Amino acid sequence: MGNSTKHWDFIVIGGGSGGIAAARAAASYGARVLLFEGRRLGGTCVNLGCVPKKIMWNAAQLSEGLHLARAYGFAPAAGELAEMELDWAKFTAARDAYIARLNQIYADNLARAGVTVVAEFARFCAANAVTAAGKTYRAKHILIAVGGAPVRPDIPGAEYAITSDEFFALPARPRRALIIGAGYIAVELAGVLRGLGGAVTVLLRKDRLLRNFDADLGDRLMAHMRAGGIDLRVNTTVAALRRTADGDLGYQTADELPGGRINAGYDCVLFAVSRAPNFAGLELECAGVLLEAGGHIAVDAYQNTAAAGIYAVGDATAGSALTPVAIAAGRKLATRLFGCDPAAKMDFAGIPTVVFSHPPIGAVGLTESQARAEYGGALRIYRSEFVNLRYALSDRKPQTFMKLICAGAAEKIVGCHLIGDGVDEILQGFAVAIKMGACRADLDACVAIHPTAAEELVTLRA
Ligand code: FAD
Ligand code: NDP
Repeated sequence: MGNSTKHWDFIVIGGGSGGIAAARAAASYGARVLLFEGRRLGGTCVNLGCVPKKIMWNAAQLSEGLHLARAYGFAPAAGELAEMELDWAKFTAARDAYIARLNQIYADNLARAGVTVVAEFARFCAANAVTAAGKTYRAKHILIAVGGAPVRPDIPGAEYAITSDEFFALPARPRRALIIGAGYIAVELAGVLRGLGGAVTVLLRKDRLLRNFDADLGDRLMAHMRAGGIDLRVNTTVAALRRTADGDLGYQTADELPGGRINAGYDCVLFAVSRAPNFAGLELECAGVLLEAGGHIAVDAYQNTAAAGIYAVGDATAGSALTPVAIAAGRKLATRLFGCDPAAKMDFAGIPTVVFSHPPIGAVGLTESQARAEYGGALRIYRSEFVNLRYALSDRKPQTFMKLICAGAAEKIVGCHLIGDGVDEILQGFAVAIKMGACRADLDACVAIHPTAAEELVTLRA
């Protein structure tokens, strides 16, 4: 086994959101940085997550816009509107070409920053050393930023299902998709497929989607999805997947096993039942890194693992599995280790999040049940439900819903929960205000922008 003679200050394992951010920040402070990436630069977000998903969400939004255009008087006489259909092959090729350009931009940016990239999977061989392709590399500081992978339930027939990873490689739009799950990915991909004209069934093992969100959002999203033609089946636990004699895919619940009815009729089954950290082949035990009960790497508030000089950020750790969180934690760590602030650490409070469902959801802060547990009766809750002016001329009148949760006599905003067109873009500015400690009176003092959906948040009445 060879040894890398060059001395490194910082080795980063994983070239996704967190790893790239940490590597570039460390290099900007003058550290000699080596980054390992076994697949494509950019990680999950760029290649199998946020970016391809958002492009597909945009396509589904455009498709919905084409329908709405008719209500505004755009006539099929022009030909295209009536007949416009997504050319899946052309669309996905353009999407993938865009992502390939991003991969190159990441490579260029890393090179410009002075980060050395090794296109290999790395594994630990000692506490301060990793090995890849027969060579050993050492550094005082090593960051684990290996992200996660989709969970595949261990049930008979699991091999018939895909996960979000394979979703982005589908050669054609499924005609009848079955999605198993109730979180971000299940609702986002269900919305995309339905928006692009497919039939979609979602199986929830419990009674509501997005149970980690404020209950008002999950309930309303379910109503929107059903109104949009998605078949939501609650309290349904899949015990097996089957392929029928005519090639269809189907599922069985425990009651239907083994020889009972098969709920068939699908050409695609997708598991969207959460993600787990990706430690395959990493040999964490050689490094003395410890895991939490949930299987994530145990870190303190400074991203330190149990092993001195070894750190972890992003989806490899517990908490919000979101790209901006991985990036921010990676940058803070680099600033602490190599920059001007030896006390730098990530602030995990008040992280806003958007679910790119149809319509989108935006949320920051405490849900109503969390706020009740924390503040008891000292809460004031403001709600508004209205039809966006976008639907003024349409028969379809989807409701937008906004909810502010305020605590104490000063009515400090502790939660903001939105569902409806445009809330994905509206939330960011309000999240800044809430992070700064805004109270209801601060929103009242702001003049509304009319006519918008956002203005409802500054004109709420109890
Ligand atoms: P990753 O981005 O997963 O990067 C880890 C990298 O490490 C990978 O490239 C992997 O190949 C590499 N690696 C693993 N092991 C090794 C090894 N031993 N040696 C070398 N390299 C290794 N988040 C949002 O904020 N907004 C969204 O809209 C959003 N949409 C999503 C949609 C989907 C379908 C999915 C799956 C996720 C989405 N996310 C979204 C979550 C987001 O993608 C992740 O939170 C983020 O990518 C985590 O970054 P990371 O750096 O921890 O890991
Ligand atoms: P989520 O954690 O969002 O949701 C998964 C849900 O699936 C669980 O909450 C659970 O809901 C249900 N579930 C779990 N196991 C099973 C099972 N065996 N059978 C049926 N249902 C099951 O995970 P995702 O995979 O959707 O996404 C992973 C993470 O990626 C997200 O948490 C998020 O952090 C990130 N992400 C972010 C996005 C964004 O920012 N827009 C988009 C996509 C992903 P219940 O308990 O109610 O049954």
